[in-house]
Amino acid sequence: MAVNPKKNEMPAQAPEVRAHNFSEVALGYTAEVAPDEAKRCLNCKARPCVSGCPVNIDIPDFISEIRKGDYEAAYRVITRSSSLPAVCGRVCPQESQCEAQCTLHVKAKMDPVGIGRLERFVADWHNEHSTEQPERPAPNGHRVAVVGAGPSGLTCAGDLAKKGYQVSVFEALHTAGGVLVYGIPEFRLPKSIVQKEVDGLKALGVKVETNVVVGRTLSVDELFDDYGFEAVFIGSGAGLPAFLRIPGENLSGVYSANEFLTRINLMKAYKEGSDTPIKHNVKVAVVGGGNVAMDAARCAKRLGAEEVSIVYRRSLEELPARREEVEHAMEEGIDFKLLNNPVEIIGYKNPDDPRDPKNGTVCGMKCVRMELGEPDASGRRRPVEIPGSEFMLDVDCVIIAIGTTPNPLIKSTTAGLEVNRKGGIIVNEETGKTSRDHVYAGGDAVTGAATVILAMGAGKTAARAIKEELGK
Ligand SMILES: Cc1cc2nc3c(=O)[nH]c(=O)nc-3n(C[C@H](O)[C@H](O)[C@H](O)COP(=O)(O)OP(=O)(O)OC[C@H]3O[C@@H](n4cnc5c(N)ncnc54)[C@H](O)[C@@H]3O)c2cc1C
Ligand code: SF4
Repeated sequence: MAVNPKKNEMPAQAPEVRAHNFSEVALGYTAEVAPDEAKRCLNCKARPCVSGCPVNIDIPDFISEIRKGDYEAAYRVITRSSSLPAVCGRVCPQESQCEAQCTLHVKAKMDPVGIGRLERFVADWHNEHSTEQPERPAPNGHRVAVVGAGPSGLTCAGDLAKKGYQVSVFEALHTAGGVLVYGIPEFRLPKSIVQKEVDGLKALGVKVETNVVVGRTLSVDELFDDYGFEAVFIGSGAGLPAFLRIPGENLSGVYSANEFLTRINLMKAYKEGSDTPIKHNVKVAVVGGGNVAMDAARCAKRLGAEEVSIVYRRSLEELPARREEVEHAMEEGIDFKLLNNPVEIIGYKNPDDPRDPKNGTVCGMKCVRMELGEPDASGRRRPVEIPGSEFMLDVDCVIIAIGTTPNPLIKSTTAGLEVNRKGGIIVNEETGKTSRDHVYAGGDAVTGAATVILAMGAGKTAARAIKEELGK
């Protein structure tokens, strides 16, 4: 039977509707469409898609189960390798991982199989229909502390709890989930999905202690000496925002994307009467070109801004955000000001009235046009300023989304914990072991800002090594 060269379309809210609400954009395959997409898979002997997946999910096997209509069996295949399928099915960059290796795409030059969409379908089907409760294993007497409740920490905790380890997760914020709840907006990843994963871990016996900042409320040493944990996994992420270091960055109306997104996602700033209100701006510029920049721009639009632009110093080709997110942002009316770089943020000043409340607020951003030169160390063509090309953007809010690094707090309060020059904790890649005995680390705290699936994989690696160490 001839293979359909096109992936089945993902149903989605219409752009003009979704640009004004925070509900999920992509609506997921139905039970009619998923088996049809599964039929496109050739069940290749060489399984190139599996090697494209950072946690090596048995992709053709779970797709075969979908073809047979046994969605619960498909779920079991996926969860042998991945603990967060409903999350990964939504936010993983499949187009540069499993789907990039798919034979349909590489050899037949067709659309790859919609592996991510099928993964999401299976996970959602399980969440909707399964009533199975995970069995709580008998405690094995060993205690492990996990710092940070993001994907790396939650995965490490889950893998250990399944083997009877008593695990406590210490989280600085008032809720678990890490970037999945404070960064990625509801319209891409509903919070209820993350909550379900956290509830699943609690059912396994994992304790989640929120509002505990390790390095301030208590130290890594105290976790060993005062609380009797035998191993510690650090999955504290990379939450420290970078800034442009240009004049005007301290004006009112300039946010780091982290702050902007946290206010909206976690503190529900968009809701009437919320405790953490956010100003509704009219003309917003988001500086940067990654997923974080797309999320911030699309949130600003949903808050009611009339004009939202992405200001990025390279061209569309180099834009690091996922293609799907860029397309969604364009459909929603986000303007892409490419090959532009900000040099100064301008503040309002009323010369006649020093008490004017608008004084010190953003009223413009001076930019310079760029062109692309020779490739730099990253392999991308270096952006070069075009002399004399300055121009002014009329904006009342600037959101900086140019990257984040690991927060130095844990390093500075944990003697003997070695970090690299970017602040990432140095680990043995095979085990996640740090320079301190019995201390492991993984995810963005090690690599700097990366992806959910890589963080999850690092949590798994460390859990394996901790079991080996404590099981001896
Ligand atoms: C806006 C945004 C959009 C993104 N979009 C995508 C995407 O589409 N696809 C994708 O794959 N990746 C995406 N990423 C990246 C991805 O979310 C991260 O790589 C991933 O969450 C890293 O997981 P982690 O567990 O290492 O850290 P995090 O998710 O950052 O979790 C770390 C947790 O540790 C807590 N913590 C920090 N310090 C302490 C402390 N001292 N004591 C206690 N707790 C502490 C933090 O509060 C946080 O909850 C995005 C990131 C952002 C910011
Ligand atoms: S490479 Fe593509 S077609 Fe081949 S088994 Fe994997 S998903 Fe199926």
